[in-house]
Amino acid sequence: MTFRSLETADLAGKRALVRVDFNVPMEGGVITDDTRLRSALPTIRHLSSRGAKVILLAHFDRPKGKRVPEMSLAPVVAPLSVLLGQPVLFGEDCIGEAAFKAVSALENGDVAVLENLRFHPGEEKNDPAFVAELGAIGDLFVNDAFSAAHRAHASTEGIARLLPAYPGLAMRRELDMLDAALGKPVKPVLGIVGGAKVSTKLDLLNNLVRKLDRLAIGGGMANTFLAAQGHDVGGSLCEHDLGDTAREIMASAKAAGCELLLPVDVVVAREVKPGTATRTCGLDDVKAGDLILDAGPETVKRLLAAMDASKTLIWNGPLGVFEVPPFDMATVAAAKHAAALAVAGKLTAVAGGGDTVSALNHAGVADDMTFVSTAGGAFLEWMEGKALPGVVALEG
Ligand code: AMP
Repeated sequence: MTFRSLETADLAGKRALVRVDFNVPMEGGVITDDTRLRSALPTIRHLSSRGAKVILLAHFDRPKGKRVPEMSLAPVVAPLSVLLGQPVLFGEDCIGEAAFKAVSALENGDVAVLENLRFHPGEEKNDPAFVAELGAIGDLFVNDAFSAAHRAHASTEGIARLLPAYPGLAMRRELDMLDAALGKPVKPVLGIVGGAKVSTKLDLLNNLVRKLDRLAIGGGMANTFLAAQGHDVGGSLCEHDLGDTAREIMASAKAAGCELLLPVDVVVAREVKPGTATRTCGLDDVKAGDLILDAGPETVKRLLAAMDASKTLIWNGPLGVFEVPPFDMATVAAAKHAAALAVAGKLTAVAGGGDTVSALNHAGVADDMTFVSTAGGAFLEWMEGKALPGVVALEG
């Protein structure tokens, strides 16, 4: 894919509409985690320093096409201004007179946030009339919200087709890293897919077995595969009705030359409780009331060896119930090893998805991985091999 470059663009005096992800966690009007504001800073600074008028567009929560005062973006203005070290203006609406007024007040290099896009039903419907209204207040479009790129909305897809469109710096880095992990990776490539259920990750598994050299399956979803192979998983989380599906995935992996790494030993307990009595056992020693809650040490050893033998790692989903120690052991050991290899320059280690980010933070290594995507749905759809409308529309 080729994209226009913000580095070489003529930005001075241009009204740059910038789609950002400001869907920050907020309690009583106070932002509790400003990571998403920080992610947007490099693009905002780049545009501002080149003399553009920076007009930030974002959604917040789900107002469903109506003006909901509690879902206003106004509370992000002051914290953003502090982070940027310059004043940030606010437009009471993202289209129409209020938007025009806010944009006309901007000098070159100034920054404004416009009110929640989703106050208008045309945003999520990608309504051409709404797209045209957005287009009327900008000269060019920059998308820096990879996390919204799986949606064909007015501010992600429609507007990119109307104005000259550019990926922002955070978006560009995300696309480059995803390409390094799955598009054109240095081989051999190892995947780790964990988490709760096979049913939520079918497309992902089917896409990965066609692309990877090895795929380790862990977490609750591994139980479905073990059961499909005839092992008794006791009272563990397991989608027994997906036996055929699991066998089909194993057959596709074999046909595509992707080696599947399934657990060879497990950690079981009678209940999911911190510090509860645990037992490590082989696959054919799981008793009726046992719950498989983590991968065993031999499985972890094999996984670490597979990392050592790989040049690229792509990871989604924890290997056990990492929120409840000691069932975080396999996930933490794997995360630490991947991070150490990444720091040593031996492995390009890319991870993403909601729980994966929490698991890596829990292991204390999120910053040491080559790249951690916080994009959730968009990251998963990309891992599933789907074209993301917000990215496709940026090609030019
Ligand atoms: P997902 O959202 O599909 O990535 O699933 C993440 C969740 O899977 C986490 O909350 C883990 O606690 C859970 N999980 C991982 N391994 C197991 C397991 N063996 N049994 C039950 N839940 C698990």
